[in-house]
Amino acid sequence: MLQTKKYQFWFCTGSQDLYGDECLAHVAEHSKKIVEALNASGNLPYELVWKPTLITNELIRKTLNEANTDPDCAGVITWMHTFSPSKSWILGLQEYRKPLLHFHTQFNQEIPYDTIDMDFMNENQAAHGDREYGHIFTRLGMERKIIMGYWADPAVQKQMGSWMRTAVGVMESSHIRVMRVADNMRNVAVTEGDKVEAQIKFGWEIDAYPINEIADAVEAVSQSDIDALVEEYYSVYQILTEGRDEKEFRRHVAVQAGIELGFERFLKEKNYQAVVTHFGDLGSLKQLPGLAIQRLMEKGYGFGAEGDWKTAAMVRVMKLMTAGMKDAKGTSFMEDYTYNLVPGKEGILQAHMLEVCPTIADGPISIKAQPLSMGEREDPARLVFTAKEGPGIATSLVDLGDRFRLIINEVDCRKTEKPMPKLPVATAFWTPRPNLKTGAEAWILAGGAHHTAFSYDLTAEQMGDWAAYMGIEAVYIDADTTIRQFKNELRWNSAAFCK
Ligand code: MN
Repeated sequence: MLQTKKYQFWFCTGSQDLYGDECLAHVAEHSKKIVEALNASGNLPYELVWKPTLITNELIRKTLNEANTDPDCAGVITWMHTFSPSKSWILGLQEYRKPLLHFHTQFNQEIPYDTIDMDFMNENQAAHGDREYGHIFTRLGMERKIIMGYWADPAVQKQMGSWMRTAVGVMESSHIRVMRVADNMRNVAVTEGDKVEAQIKFGWEIDAYPINEIADAVEAVSQSDIDALVEEYYSVYQILTEGRDEKEFRRHVAVQAGIELGFERFLKEKNYQAVVTHFGDLGSLKQLPGLAIQRLMEKGYGFGAEGDWKTAAMVRVMKLMTAGMKDAKGTSFMEDYTYNLVPGKEGILQAHMLEVCPTIADGPISIKAQPLSMGEREDPARLVFTAKEGPGIATSLVDLGDRFRLIINEVDCRKTEKPMPKLPVATAFWTPRPNLKTGAEAWILAGGAHHTAFSYDLTAEQMGDWAAYMGIEAVYIDADTTIRQFKNELRWNSAAFCK
C-alpha cells in the first residue's frame, strides 16, 4: 500500500563551452563520480541518474521538459561545476514543473594550495557559478531547495536523502484520493475546509460515498475470510478479555475483521488511499471502526476521524514520504486530549477514541473490547499500546478561509510517569517544543486543530519544504519559538499570503 513508484532523481551539471573540451571532460567525469558515490552511500532513498552536462539554452530546456514527462522522475538536482549563465535557464525553468534541488557543492574539498592556478579556478568555480544560477530562481520567484556542502559528507548526503522524500511527497500528493463515508462532525470548525482549493493546491480528490455503500461491502465479506483474519489477530496481538466472555469477545473482534476487509476492498475497488469516518454516522455498521482503521493506517492508508479529510490526506502524504525507511518509528493520526500540568513533567496525553496507528507502538499490542462513551453501537474492539519515545513532529493543516496554513510543531515523546490501566485506548505522551506553555499558546494562536498528523520519521524542515512546494503558508513551533516573534510572523504571513 505504501509502495511508491521506483522514483529516480536526475543529476544535471551546468557549464558552458568557454573553457574548452578538456575542462568539459573533467566536469562530466567529476559529476559522474559524485553520482556514483551518492548512489553507493546508502544515504539516498532513491536512485540518482547522471545526465549529460547542460551547456546550452536548448539542451537545458529539452532536459527539463524530459524530466517533466518522465513519470519516474521525481525531481532534478542541479549543480554548476563551472559557470552557467543563468539567462540560459529561464525558458527551461519556466516550463519545469517538478521539485528542484540546487546542490551547492564543489568537487574538491580543499583548496590545492601548492598547485592551484587559473585553470583550476575556472574549472572549480561553483562558489560563483552557483550564485549566478541561484539568482534566476529568486528573480523568477521559483521555489527550490538549496543544500550547501561537500558531496562526500554523510550529513550532506542525508540532507539530500531527506529532500528526496519531500519531493516524493510533492509528486505523490496529487495522486491522493480521500473517501468520505461520513460528513464532518456537526458544529466543528477545524475539520472543515475548501475541498476545491485543496484539489487546486495539493491535487487531492475528496469524494463522498453513502456510509451504507461501504457497510454493504463489509456485509459482503465471507465468514471464512473473517475467521482467517481473526486468527491472524489472535496470533499477532495479546488478547485482553478483562473478564468478558471469550466467545462474545471474539465476536466483537470479528466485527472489526469484517470492517477491515470490507473497507479495504471498497477503497481498493474505488481507488482511494485515505478515508474518514464519524462516530455519529455509522449507518448499518455494528461498531465504530477501531481496530479495523488502526490496521488500515498501519498498511499505509490515510485516516481522519469525525470527517476530517484534511488530516486523513496529511497522514497519507506523511506515510508516503517515509515509505521504505529503515528503522521507521511510525506515523499516525493523533489528537491532543489531556494535559499533565505538574511542573517539570508537563505534557499532552495523545490518543483518540480508538484510531491510533500501530506503527508508533512500543512493545506489545493488545486487543480490548470496551464501550465507547459516545455513539450507540456495540463495544468496539481496538488495539491498545503506548507509543515510542523520542522526537517527532505534529502537523495540523487548517483552512483560514483565504488560504491553508500548515502548523508544524517539534515535540518530544516520553513514557507517562505511570501506566494507565483503565484507559482502553492507544496513547502517546509528548511535550511540545520549546515547552508546553509556549508550544500550546503558539499552536492556538496559529489556529492549529486538536487533530494532527504525527510522525517520528519526518522533520519540520521536510514538512516546511513540502508546504513551500505546495505554495501554502507554513509556521514552525520549535526550540526557537517565542510568542512575541511568532505573533509577528503570523501577522507578516497574513500580508504575504493574502490574495
Ligand atoms: Mn477527534
